[in-house]
Amino acid sequence: THQVHIIGGGLAGSEAAWQLAEAGVRVRLSEMRGSGEMTPAHHTDGLAELVCSNSFRSDDAEHNAVGLLHAEMRALGSIIMACGDEHRVPAGSALAVDRDGFSAAVTARLSGHPNIEIVRERVDTLPADGLAIIATGPLTAAPLAEAIRGATGADALAFFDAIAPIVHRDSIDMDIAWMAARWDKGGKDYINCPMTEEQYRAFHQALLDGDKTEFREWEKDTPYFEGCMPIEVMASRGLDTLRYGPMKPVGLDDPGTGRWPHAVVQLRQDNALGTLWNIVGFQTKLKYAEQVRIFRMIPGLENAEFARLGGLHRNTFIRSPELLDGELRLKSAPNVRFAGQITGCEGYVESAAIGLIAGRFAAAEAKGGSLDVPPAETALGALLGHITGGAEADSYQPMNVNFGLFPPVTGRVKKAERKARYTSRARDALADWMETLPAV
Ligand code: FAD
Repeated sequence: THQVHIIGGGLAGSEAAWQLAEAGVRVRLSEMRGSGEMTPAHHTDGLAELVCSNSFRSDDAEHNAVGLLHAEMRALGSIIMACGDEHRVPAGSALAVDRDGFSAAVTARLSGHPNIEIVRERVDTLPADGLAIIATGPLTAAPLAEAIRGATGADALAFFDAIAPIVHRDSIDMDIAWMAARWDKGGKDYINCPMTEEQYRAFHQALLDGDKTEFREWEKDTPYFEGCMPIEVMASRGLDTLRYGPMKPVGLDDPGTGRWPHAVVQLRQDNALGTLWNIVGFQTKLKYAEQVRIFRMIPGLENAEFARLGGLHRNTFIRSPELLDGELRLKSAPNVRFAGQITGCEGYVESAAIGLIAGRFAAAEAKGGSLDVPPAETALGALLGHITGGAEADSYQPMNVNFGLFPPVTGRVKKAERKARYTSRARDALADWMETLPAV
């Protein structure tokens, strides 16, 4: 019989199963594909199927946060990275893979492992007892999603994301923008970017003209809630709609002029570290390159660097910072862990990484031991920390790994050297943490 039940054999569930099995823990891995079920984005019965692009993004572990995460996962014996490396196809400094070869390799290794039993079945309820990991992804089957909703509360599980772009704080020009709250109430909590009427008109027109991404066929019923309508859809309702909505200037005196600007773009703190700020109300279906071009028209954001760009997709995820403890356990039912995209991380690699650490935590627990949380200076620790508490719970939206999630490097560092400082610090921290890992 199994010691840990994993639900979902995607990127996260496959990695978690491997980590547990390699630690000597017996796993039941339930995957609904292959039992007559399919998600709208998957096409095969293979484990760890890549539903869209075949890229794991940058493999540069010196200057890129996802490249660093690759390196950390390799050091921790990741099956996703091992099979990715085996099935690599040329893609410059990125790691891209032959998707069929990759998925077949993951499936074969997991099927061949003596500690893993793969069961093709759809699971509709949260396991009441015994250790479990829910890794059912952005397209979790409806009955289980409802069961999760029952356990977390209706507000705490979303079926759609509405991602506003997130900007690195140190790339905002504070000679133009200023900090204040409307009517000076409740502290200077927002960063405000002022627009003249001319700037506003040009910006409004750019939103209307910008290239947008279409919803996929099965996403067409994506509801817009009034509170999270794409910014360009709001713009299309009239020239002044945004000025009465997210770009409302009232009560915001620009210290440069002493008056309210014609319109204001507001940014709100996105993580406890204060390194990341989201543009309030700017969820969008504009294409990524268009977002960069158009949002850099905003005074103060001319040189903005984006930790992530906006989006709106069907995406099942829970409000992890509030619901999960530091080891990814559901606080209200601690036998259950969550892993992968359903925790609100974003991306193949991030999903697998959270599967990896969920598997390691569950393995330690199954064996009666414990595991130190990976340090915040590592990519794995930074991403985990964001999900399990660092992010603002109320505005929680899916997040890629990026240097804005790390504790800022201190001291005077030239901009060109900053990334290398993050990654060398991470390597030291990972090595120290790996010394503390329980022997298998
Ligand atoms: P998945 O890989 O989706 O795995 C979840 C598994 O659980 C699936 O195999 C599913 O069949 C199974 N399952 C669901 N419900 C049940 C149930 N009740 N019982 C049993 N099994 C169940 N990320 C990128 O990095 N690059 C991209 O190009 C990219 N494109 C994407 C495109 C789409 C359309 C979507 C939806 C997401 C995309 N993502 C992309 C985001 C994310 O990286 C992937 O969704 C990734 O697969 C998430 O990994 P996961 O393990 O959390 O979920």
